[in-house]
Amino acid sequence: MKGDSILIVGSIAIDTIEIGNERYENLLGGSTTYATIAAVKYSDVNVVGIIGSDFPQYGHDIYKKYAANLIDLKVEQGKTFNWGGRYHDNFDDRDTLFTELGVFGKFSPKLSAINKNQQYVFLANIHPNLQNSVIDQCQANPTIVVDTMNLWIGTVHNELQTVLSKSDILLINESEAEMLTECSNIDDAAKTLIRLGPPTVVIKQGSKGAALYNNMDEKITIGVYPVNKVVDPTGAGDTFGGGFISALAQGKTYKEALVLGSALASICVEGVGIDALEKATVAEIENRQNFLRDKVTA
Ligand code: AMP
Repeated sequence: MKGDSILIVGSIAIDTIEIGNERYENLLGGSTTYATIAAVKYSDVNVVGIIGSDFPQYGHDIYKKYAANLIDLKVEQGKTFNWGGRYHDNFDDRDTLFTELGVFGKFSPKLSAINKNQQYVFLANIHPNLQNSVIDQCQANPTIVVDTMNLWIGTVHNELQTVLSKSDILLINESEAEMLTECSNIDDAAKTLIRLGPPTVVIKQGSKGAALYNNMDEKITIGVYPVNKVVDPTGAGDTFGGGFISALAQGKTYKEALVLGSALASICVEGVGIDALEKATVAEIENRQNFLRDKVTA
């Protein structure tokens, strides 16, 4: 059964990914794309975003297939956001090869009435000013889950702090949490992040799992599902976020949100781009959720 619908804002991108000797070009990517395909397994998803006139037909098809409404997806003359990344051999580290904003450079999101009134909002990774603009247009006092990345911590720290001060749940990588707080262990980093605004913080630790901190007094950790082979880790964080918020929108607990996010992320990394995530069956997701429930400590 589907829960409340979700609003997702983030990037919609054309990705180039280099892994070892392989180079994959023209992949449909972006934080909104991964989060949407993850969340839509169990929730209706509305998207806010922008694409260029070069956006490929298969990208349009994916958004038509998955999004509950596309009224706030703008198509502008110009180039779609392009991102390229190269993974190190350990898969945990990645270098950005290029970030070409294209039409994102002049994006100013305007929410229509239906999207202003969503109860669950996922601010996937994108410039904090855009995240902030979406928060300010929301009228139904929604649960706001926010994700971010090292680029914004380094370049627009104050704008990011404004977003954090208005958010309910922050999802952040371990290295980014340490960068943002200057704390070298995750317990201290989480406490510092909670002081910045969001009462709940989830620190994602890649191949080590994740830890959720709630109001300074509750900590829940989760391990990982042992995937057969990591093919492409791109989008794992966004997929985790999409699954996490969709569990909350179904009225589930934080434990179940961690379980669903982790199950979907483990599937995402088994294919190139969105491939494995798109093909994921409910049976396989449930199989991984069952495994992961035993990997939770509270
Ligand atoms: P993840 O692997 O979860 O960090 O997400 C990777 C996705 O984020 C890729 O599909 C990229 O298109 C997108 N991405 C990378 N850099 C940025 C950025 N600066 N702003 C928004 N999205 C980005």
